[in-house]
Parts: sequence; structure tokens; C-alpha cells
Amino acid sequence: MDLSYSDDHEAFRTELRTFLDERLPKTLADKVRLGKRLIKEDHEQWHAILQEKNWHAGHWPKEHGGAGWDAVQRHIFEEETTKAHAPRIVPFGVAMLGPVLMAFGNDEQKAYWMPRILSGEDWWCQGYSEPGAGSDLASLKCEAKREGDHYIVNGQKTWTTLAQYADHIFCLVRTSKEGKRQEGISFLLIDMNDPGVEVKPIVLIDGEAEVNEVWFTDVKVPVENLVGEENKGWTIAKYLLTHERTNIAGVGFASEALSNLRRIAGLEMQDGKPLIEDALFAAEIAKLEIALMAMATTNLRVVSAAAEGQAPGVESSMLKIKGTQIRQEINNLTRAACGPYAMPFVSEALEPGSNIDTVGPDYAMPSTAEYFNNRKLSIYGGSNEVQRQIIAKTMLEV
Ligand SMILES: Cc1cc2nc3c(=O)[nH]c(=O)nc-3n(C[C@H](O)[C@H](O)[C@H](O)COP(=O)(O)OP(=O)(O)OC[C@H]3O[C@@H](n4cnc5c(N)ncnc54)[C@H](O)[C@@H]3O)c2cc1C
Repeated sequence: MDLSYSDDHEAFRTELRTFLDERLPKTLADKVRLGKRLIKEDHEQWHAILQEKNWHAGHWPKEHGGAGWDAVQRHIFEEETTKAHAPRIVPFGVAMLGPVLMAFGNDEQKAYWMPRILSGEDWWCQGYSEPGAGSDLASLKCEAKREGDHYIVNGQKTWTTLAQYADHIFCLVRTSKEGKRQEGISFLLIDMNDPGVEVKPIVLIDGEAEVNEVWFTDVKVPVENLVGEENKGWTIAKYLLTHERTNIAGVGFASEALSNLRRIAGLEMQDGKPLIEDALFAAEIAKLEIALMAMATTNLRVVSAAAEGQAPGVESSMLKIKGTQIRQEINNLTRAACGPYAMPFVSEALEPGSNIDTVGPDYAMPSTAEYFNNRKLSIYGGSNEVQRQIIAKTMLEV
């Protein structure tokens, strides 16, 4: 295991920094820095700029149209883009469906769908969870019945992030009720514009309608849109989740949020001196710095193992737990550092084009929204309690 960066990796970092200096639009970076909400066009604009360099899905192998980054380059990309306040890459196509198609898709599916993910032509969302099927995903009921060369889909998905922007959804559907629950699930690609698909927004506690319910009524899906074999979707579902969880560790996001916290604690005053000089507050920040350094090292260890060809396994669950705990604690301290200015929370002020003046400094405005929104981190991608069980079973064998 070698945790130092090679000359090639340092050169990649320099190239990336220059690219970000030159090509990341200031309007976008300002929105991200100030915690404003991004709309579809913002993401599309950034994805198109990245794709000029083949970096929208840089970690995809060259044969599939990516830049063939190794795991360390991907890690550097996350570090540098977060530091520069670039929008995150929306993960559903490039980080979730892409790897699934590479591993399980047939030649036609790869040839048709993958270039469309790269170009941003298709916006994907993830149709896994249902009411009654979240942690216990195998109890899902959304049904796909084969009729000739189509499946007829009926049922409901929930918590579908950014489905309001999506034109396609990858779905786990029940194709059999026989035998073990896991053996009757299939992985299906569905066009959101098909008749019978309905999207209903769910407004979250931070005031944003980021997630949705998706309803299917007699939706006709061609059998060519089945990925892998019928009733064998559970293996695909688990494969995709491992990729999703590693992505959630978010070392870059945590580093950026921590330096923002340090900056705020340096500006906010308490008893006539900057908050950062308060021994108790400084100790809390130090604890987080240590935890983050430990996580970053673990992340590099996993990244280094992946670079040597070992796929992420149970480590992705560890990183998911630790990464989300650290980020939630940073949100907690940031809100505390903003003090009373975190109180007048006006959700509309975060919307694009809003000219609402809020009380207090600009860094205080999104602190409460971020605190509320990031409660999700320990829930989505498989809740942290369930990740602990996975670790207990697979690593500790209890
Ligand atoms: C903001 C947000 C965005 C999301 N986006 C998507 C998306 O785009 N697509 C998608 O498919 N899903 C999405 N999800 C769903 C997410 O994956 C589920 O919420 C998650 O898997 C938990 O399922 P649940 O909400 O049904 O909770 P439940 O499974 O009902 O769990 C409720 C509580 O019980 C605990 N619990 C459950 N089982 C156990 C157990 N065996 N042992 C110990 N504790 C347990 C859980 O940890 C949790 O605290 C999103 C969720 C959120 C909050």
C-alpha cells in the first residue's frame, strides 16, 4: 500500500486546478459557496463543461468513453472540485447506472445508454425505495408483469431524488412472487415520459422539494430495457449500492465544510474574542479534524486497494457511516457558530433568483438549511444502523 501521490497524480492535480480556474463559471461557484439551490440547467452547464475534457465520468474506462482515471485521480478530482466550489456531479447516471451497465448490460444497452449518460442527454433517477421497502429493500412490491415483448409496471417508488428533472428511472421491480423475496426482483430502465408515470414532490424539512414519489399505472416498458436476467436483479441492486455508498463518504465535502467552519469561527466573536480562540469550541473543531484525517487515510487506503484491483467491499459501509457522522457534526457546529443568525431561516432566500435580504452574514443564511438537509446523510444509501449490521456480519462475523 502506497499512500503518497505519484508525479503523474500531482500533474493531474495541477491540470485540474488550472481547468477549474479557467472553466468553472464564477456564477456557479458563488451559488455553491453561498449554499444556494442549484437548478437542472446549472448541473447541465457544469456537466457539459466537464465533458469537453471527457471528465463528466472521468473514472469510466476509456473503452466506454471515460477518461480512464484510476481511483486516486477520482479522489483528487473530488478534493479539488469541492475546494473550488464546483457543483457535485449528479451521481445517478455516471456513478450508479454506468457501472451497472458495464458489469451487467448487454452490448446493445451499453452502446445505446452509456454515450447518453456521458453527454448528459439522459437524466437518471433511482427507483429503489418504496413505502415499506427502504432498509428492507427485498420487500418491494412495485410489479412488472411480462406481456409479450413488454413489461406492464404498476406500483409506487418514494424518496426519489431529483425525479422532477429526470427523463429516465432505473427501477427495482417485482417480477415473481415465488420463492425467496430476493429471487423475484428485476432491474428495469423506464422512460419517465411514458404514459402512466406520475411524479409528486415531497417537501423536506429544509423547505426544498428535492425528493419525490413516483407512481406507475400500467406503464408499458419494452423487454429490451431489462438489465441482466429476469428475477436476478438483487445482485445488480447490491452491486450498485456498494458504488453509491463509497461515493457518500465525501472526504472532499467534509474538508471543505470544515474549513468553512474554521473561517466562520474566526469571524464570529464571543466575549470579545474570535470564537475559534474559545478553548472548548477549538477542542470540538480539533476532534473533528482528527476524525477527518483518520477517515481520509482510510479512504486513501480503500482507494489504494481499489487501484490494485480490489473492489470496494465492506469498507464502503465503514466510510459511509464515518463520513456522514463527520459531516453532520460539522453542520451542527457551524450552526452553533452562527449563533442567533442561524435562527431567521428563510427557505425562499436560497432559491435561484431570490432577492430576499436575510439577517446576518451571508455564511449564516444556509447553515440551518444544511443542518436540516444533511440529516438525510445517515439515512439514504442505506441507513447507518443497517451499515453497522453489514459490518458486524461480514467483517466481525457476528
Ligand atoms: C433525502 C433522501 C433521499 C433519498 N433518495 C433516494 C433515491 O433517490 N432513490 C431511492 O430509491 N431511495 C432514496 N432514499 C431512500 C433511502 O435509501 C431510504 O430512506 C433508506 O434506505 C431507509 O429506508 P426507510 O426510509 O424506509 O427507513 P426504514 O427502513 O423504515 O428505517 C427506519 C429506521 O429504522 C432503522 N432500521 C431499519 N431496519 C433496521 C435493522 N434491521 N436494524 C436496526 N435498525 C433498523 C433505520 O436505520 C431507521 O433509523 C432517500 C432517502 C432520503 C431521506
